[in-house]
Amino acid sequence: MLKPEKKTGEQGHSHSSKRVSCNGGGGALGHPLIWLTYGQDGNATCPYCSKKFDSQQSE
Ligand SMILES: [Zn+2]
Repeated sequence: MLKPEKKTGEQGHSHSSKRVSCNGGGGALGHPLIWLTYGQDGNATCPYCSKKFDSQQSE
């Protein structure tokens, strides 16, 4: 019976490193596309447009 080899070197892989992109929604209020990383509280705020993201939301 063969066991699939477990990958090593990726210990502690968690969902807390989820990222979200923001470009200000385009238009006059737009800004270059950047990637934000959610903090430990699951929230991220765009430094350009101050838009707040919640990792609990699907969008
Ligand atoms: Zn933004």
